[in-house]
Amino acid sequence: MRRKLVVGNWKMQGSRVANAELLAGLLAARPFSQGALEVAVCPPAVYLNEVAATLASSNIRWGAQDVSAHAQGAYTGEVSAAMLQELGCRYVLVGHSERRAYHAESDTLVALKAQAALGRGVTPIVCVGETLAERDAGQTEAVVKRQLSAVIHTLAHCAAEMVVAYEPVWAIGTGRTATPDQAQAVHAVLRAQLQAATGRADHMSILYGGSVKPDNAAQLFAQHDIDGGLIGGASLKAADFVAICRAVY
Ligand code: PEP
Repeated sequence: MRRKLVVGNWKMQGSRVANAELLAGLLAARPFSQGALEVAVCPPAVYLNEVAATLASSNIRWGAQDVSAHAQGAYTGEVSAAMLQELGCRYVLVGHSERRAYHAESDTLVALKAQAALGRGVTPIVCVGETLAERDAGQTEAVVKRQLSAVIHTLAHCAAEMVVAYEPVWAIGTGRTATPDQAQAVHAVLRAQLQAATGRADHMSILYGGSVKPDNAAQLFAQHDIDGGLIGGASLKAADFVAICRAVY
């Protein structure tokens, strides 16, 4: 069965006080997860320990925003998959467009990060998406397939264990969202690619991300191949994030 999943990407935002307030708002909305819906938040790495302690007895999961491709060693500033595993991370984002753009992360590096995470039992949420220029040039399908193909190739027989997030770069943090039809069309392409590679695409979750808000979530989540969302800005307001999670049903 395809898992319904909503993940909050806090990016480089928050503070100990703001995080406590946000999590209190989420915890107050219990029972938060219903049926097959899973909810997770991805705070900055420095707060993971505290977030893990706060959420330990809840049904909200937590994850990281990035992971090193290396197991350990002299990689100043990096955080390993083993460290994330030790903190109880269920998920880690890899290949977010902000990391691809600002840290020059290649398809190959993203794939190695996904592999490192899976090797430690942390599920990678692999982000793919085209820029506006690529969409306008009619390259959307080719771009997302290329990005996903690198990960499929590297994960090989474990590829069905990842979660995929389609995030059109032009919709992230811009207030401009893909229409449900535009999003569904790309999700269908990705699912077909996953099916061809793993034969298990009907067990894999593909999330949509890009300016999802309480007022557009239900229409997006109603699409056949959209299994939930990766939520940036709106995940920083408890009421909005809860409303988006509830829109899954
Ligand atoms: C994201 O950062 O993954 C994201 C989708 O951001 P936003 O919801 O703010 O567009």
